[in-house]
Amino acid sequence: MQTGIIAAVTYDLTYISLGAGVQSSALYILAAQGKHGVPHADVAVFADTGDEPDYVYRQLERLEEWGKKHGGAPIHRVEEGSGSLSEVMGVRWVPIPAFTRVSEEKFTDAVGDPYTVFTLEQQAPDERTRGGRRRRDREGMLRRQCTKEFKVVPIQRFIKETVLGIPRGKPVKKRARGMMGFSCEEVARIKPSREKWIDSVYPLMDARLYRPHCIRIVEDAGLGTPRKSACTFCPYHSDRYWAEMKRDDPKAFDHSVDVDEMIRSAASRAQLYHSDGKAYASLRGPHPTIPGRSKDGIEADNIYVHRSCTPLKDVQFGDQPSLWGEECEGHCGI
Ligand code: SF4
Repeated sequence: MQTGIIAAVTYDLTYISLGAGVQSSALYILAAQGKHGVPHADVAVFADTGDEPDYVYRQLERLEEWGKKHGGAPIHRVEEGSGSLSEVMGVRWVPIPAFTRVSEEKFTDAVGDPYTVFTLEQQAPDERTRGGRRRRDREGMLRRQCTKEFKVVPIQRFIKETVLGIPRGKPVKKRARGMMGFSCEEVARIKPSREKWIDSVYPLMDARLYRPHCIRIVEDAGLGTPRKSACTFCPYHSDRYWAEMKRDDPKAFDHSVDVDEMIRSAASRAQLYHSDGKAYASLRGPHPTIPGRSKDGIEADNIYVHRSCTPLKDVQFGDQPSLWGEECEGHCGI
C-alpha cells in the first residue's frame, strides 16, 4: 500500500481510479502536473453508477476539458453494463450498505448451551425483555456489494481487457499500478488490492495531503470547489449532506426517496445475488428456529437508506456524521 515499496517495480500501466470528487480530482490534476511526487497516469477511469448527482457529472466534464489542455490522462467512463445501479436494484437485488434494525436474542439449545441469534426488527425499542429473554436492538448494515459490482469490477475489466488487451478469462501477466484518491484523513480505508496484477497506491497520503489541500489544488486549477462523489441515495451520507440535498437538489433527493421506497418493495420479491448472478439467500425463507422470522434474519421491508431506519421522506435530519470519506472508491475490500 505504500508507494515507497512499489517504487522499484516497473509497471506496464498506471491508472487513476477517478470518482470526480474532492480527492481523486486533486489526484488527477497532480498526476498531470507532476507535483507532490504523484506519478504520471496513462489513463483515468470513472466508473459510472448512473446515479451520481449532477454536480459530479459536471465536474467530470470540467476535468476532461482541463485534461485536454494540460496534459491530463485521457478519461474513460465505464459502466456495469445492465443499467444504472438504481435500475438494476429494481430488477435484482444488489445490496447497497443499507440500514436495518438488528435484534440480538439469547437462547439455550437442547443440551443447555447458550447461543445468540441476530435478527432484524421493524420496531426500534432499545432494550426489552420478551418471554424472559433479553433483547437488544441496534442498527446493522447490509453487506455492500454495489461498489464491487458497479465500481471495482468495471474499472478492472476495462484496464485488463480494453487497455491491456487481455481477453476475459485469460491470466494477466502484466503489472498495473492503480492510484486511489484517498487523503490522509482516510487512512482507515486503504486496503491491498485483491488482484495480484494490480498494486493499489495512495499518492495523496504519500504526499501528506489532507482534504483541504485537495480542495485548494482543484480550485487553483480553475475547476471550482469540488464536492463529494457518491450515489445520491448512498446510505453513507451524513445528515448534513442529506439536508443540503433536500434543500439544493430536490430532484436528487426525490430520486433517493424513490430508491429508499423501492428497496423495501424490491427486496421483498427479490433474492440476494452474488456478482456472478447466482442467488445465495432468500429474503423471505422461514427461520430455522424462530417461527415468523426470515431464515437469514433479513426482513425485506426493514431496509432503509437512512440510519434511523425510517423512510427517508420522513426523516428529520440531525447530526449523523458521514460514515466514510469523500468518494465511493474504485477499489474496496469486498
Ligand atoms: S456510493 Fe454508496 S450506494 Fe453508490 S456504489 Fe458506492 S457504496 Fe454503493
